[in-house]
Amino acid sequence: MLTLKHIVELDALELQQLYEKLQKSVTLASLVLAAWQIGLWFARTLVNHHLNERAQLPQSWGNCHQCGSHLQSKGFVPRRILTLVGWVEWRRRVGRCPNRCAGSHDAPFDQVLGIAPDQQTSIELVRLGCLLAVFLPFELAVQLLSQLCGVHISDDTVWQWVQRFGRQAMQRLNRELDNLHQGVEPAMEAIDPILMELPLVIAADGVTVPFRAQGGTPKGKIRFQEVKIALLARIRSVQTRSAQTKTRLEQRRLVAVLGDIAALQARLQLEALRQGITTAPQVVWISDGARGFWRLFEQHFAGIAIGILDFYHAAQQLGEAAEAYGDTLPTRTPQQWFERVRHQLRHGYVHRIVQELGRLLQYPSTPASAKPGLKRVQQYLSKHLPHLQYRSFKKQGFPIGSGMVESACKWLIEQRFKGTGMRWSETGFNHLLHLRLAWVNGRFDPLFAEHPLTLHLYSPNR
Ligand SMILES: [Zn+2]
Repeated sequence: MLTLKHIVELDALELQQLYEKLQKSVTLASLVLAAWQIGLWFARTLVNHHLNERAQLPQSWGNCHQCGSHLQSKGFVPRRILTLVGWVEWRRRVGRCPNRCAGSHDAPFDQVLGIAPDQQTSIELVRLGCLLAVFLPFELAVQLLSQLCGVHISDDTVWQWVQRFGRQAMQRLNRELDNLHQGVEPAMEAIDPILMELPLVIAADGVTVPFRAQGGTPKGKIRFQEVKIALLARIRSVQTRSAQTKTRLEQRRLVAVLGDIAALQARLQLEALRQGITTAPQVVWISDGARGFWRLFEQHFAGIAIGILDFYHAAQQLGEAAEAYGDTLPTRTPQQWFERVRHQLRHGYVHRIVQELGRLLQYPSTPASAKPGLKRVQQYLSKHLPHLQYRSFKKQGFPIGSGMVESACKWLIEQRFKGTGMRWSETGFNHLLHLRLAWVNGRFDPLFAEHPLTLHLYSPNR
């Protein structure tokens, strides 16, 4: 077994050069960088030596999967792979079938290391590249990768990694959806027991993304398609310093799909089960006026959840009524009327607004041109009456606005997918979307390995 001292002695010249650079460093920054370089050199040297040493250990050979003959060693063959600390290289035994069967080459030590025959890059580096691409355009991701660990990779390579692991994330989700379809419910996520006692909120919204008119080329007209998003979270009421009650979201999870309401419904159902919808003390649904979402609510959640129509959206309807009614009252401007009814709405008197609209519709003094607008708003409010009980919602500590899912749309979709000149292919979009979802939902690392690959776990820089 090589000791650290031996390893340093073996590569003394290279280390000496790096050390001289450190000695010549004047400024703090250059001193730190020279020392960091020595650190990287140590890391790479240690990996190289350990791999070469371990590859020497006696090897037992399996049988050829074609003809069943015992594989035979063909001697040591070099292997090279790019890692977080740069290229590492070692020599390990490769075996082959004595009958020279096709595809019988075997390098058992590679399997011990958990690397595939055609693998060019070590998985901790692939994970970091994918993580950077989750937040940044591909060309920026590779620049940062080079700044962070001195490894140069093309943006096309990182793009391919994202396709591969994004596809795996999608396949994993599809298996879970298939299971659910066959009546197998997903396991509930491990949730803090304190959070389990809090109400579960589900909020839904949509956002459009620019797609390429045809695959393969960014040319041609942009085609916008809607991505549907749902947010699930536990809501905690907290007192602010000014003694006001605010709601805080905990255990936030996102669901998103480029597809129709049915596609969202399946994913939402899956996630709601994972988040303990069946045992939550209360379930709250919030969305704006979009009909598809309310249909989804009525069909799948109305039995279990309290529906809340986004307050700002409801107030907007009152604004439209005020505008329709216009300047026909000498004693009051539309703005004054709007402010009064909005106040009523906020404090739980929506039935009075519906009555008032009913009276306005009957008054002969109401201009005929205003009536269709007033009628529409009256019907709208009547239909959503149970979803407009804002006083009661507030009292129970529920949020009354869907701002939480609107901001989720911003950081899940707009920040990464709607940059200047960006146009996506559906496949490329879906792969990256599922990696982003995996990251925000805390399911990113299991895509890459069974054990955590997070650098700070091993880093002294804590
Ligand atoms: Zn064979």
